[in-house]
Amino acid sequence: MDPVQPCIALIAHDEKKDDMVDFARVHQAALSKYRIVATGTTGGRVQDACPGLQVTRLKSGPLGGDQQIGAMIASGDVSMLIFFIDPLSALPHDVDVKALTRLATVYDIPMALNRATAENFIAFQ
Ligand code: PGA
Repeated sequence: MDPVQPCIALIAHDEKKDDMVDFARVHQAALSKYRIVATGTTGGRVQDACPGLQVTRLKSGPLGGDQQIGAMIASGDVSMLIFFIDPLSALPHDVDVKALTRLATVYDIPMALNRATAENFIAFQ
């Protein structure tokens, strides 16, 4: 990863992964300007769909991936978060989701929690 490129984090809950893959396909050119980190399964899906993107995969969300991204936000290594959350399912790692969105708020980085907001981010890049 080129450390001078801004870094974007991608996460999608299971019911939103198809949407994330489609988003990444549609915006592959825009996303290629970023270093990309992602939780394990999301990153794998995006990488398979968009072989031209360089995706660094962290742990799966329920196994600590959300926390890893939170730590990267706290250390200034991630400057934008695109997180397609599933508001209709109970999640075992709900507290991690809350911690991550809290840190993104504390460090005041752009955070898109749904596709409509992510589309706006990309449009203004
Ligand atoms: P995953 O993690 O990409 O490994 O599925 C996402 C999450 O559920 O936080």
